[in-house]
Amino acid sequence: MLTEGHDLVVVGSANADLVIGVRRRPAAGETVLGSDLATYPGGKGGNQAVAAARLGARTALLARVGDDAHGRLLLDTQRAAGVDTRPVLVGGAPTGVALITVDPSGDNSIVVSPGANARLTPADIEAAAPLLAAARVVSLQLEIPLETVAAAVRAVGPDTRVVLNPSPPAPLPPDVLAACDPLVVNEHEARSLLDGDPAGAGDDPAAWAAALLGRGSRSVVITLGPAGALAADPRGQTRVPGVPVEAVDTTGAGDAFTGALAWRLGTGDDLATAVRYAVRVGAAAVTRPGAQQSYPTAAEVAALPD
Ligand code: ADP
Repeated sequence: MLTEGHDLVVVGSANADLVIGVRRRPAAGETVLGSDLATYPGGKGGNQAVAAARLGARTALLARVGDDAHGRLLLDTQRAAGVDTRPVLVGGAPTGVALITVDPSGDNSIVVSPGANARLTPADIEAAAPLLAAARVVSLQLEIPLETVAAAVRAVGPDTRVVLNPSPPAPLPPDVLAACDPLVVNEHEARSLLDGDPAGAGDDPAAWAAALLGRGSRSVVITLGPAGALAADPRGQTRVPGVPVEAVDTTGAGDAFTGALAWRLGTGDDLATAVRYAVRVGAAAVTRPGAQQSYPTAAEVAALPD
């Protein structure tokens, strides 16, 4: 197994997003005609890996795709962005797919078939343990089985930093939470994780961050859309304002943010400095349509206003 110096190893999902525009989303039993099919590379793991690689990070992706046309498309787009795809496993189930219908108001209906993502197992992680042990940062999300995420947390090296975006939100085992440095959540994920917790009630992100830190993660980052982000660790909190841009499409902004954050932490930035950079990457990503195809280069991030 290859172990050579990656700044970032992303362990997670890779999906093909199949999108059809419709005048009206179909009701039960109804058939509607839509636009031509558009196929986009997606999945939170694939998105984060492309975001980091495009910025210049030496990035590897550990994921599973099907032995099919969607899998080949995903591998091709990862490689074109500069991601090391040698750890990607192929076969066992069809490539994960999101079937998306979008109406003119932008509301969508989505059916996800996890496919090969659900077949990325703890044994797959154990077989790739040297890769994870040698990484500066390992970035995780929850579109693969939770037991696989837990195996990845166990496989990292003593100097490896773990970044986790708990999306889709789910309760996290204490050993996974204790490894997160940081736990990265958007407003929806923060509210969902804190549902029913009086310490995290209300609308104040500072209170959410304190409540999430109290659960045991080493640090917490809350993304706040156009308002930027909040970084918190036991020493204190830093509010990073958003970058004013004309937002065209916010799809995948959080994944661009997290991929960038994970990479910058691996280069030695402190948390607040890395969050400042990631806020700029997220802002650049919303100025163009789509997810991966909207992600900026380092030069494009540098060109944004301060
Ligand atoms: P998610 O995409 O997970 O819902 P957010 O909406 O919080 O996450 O966006 C992630 C990051 O992308 C934000 O922290 C910010 O840096 C950037 N961002 C998102 N929306 C905008 C916007 N309208 N203007 C500027 N930056 C944005």
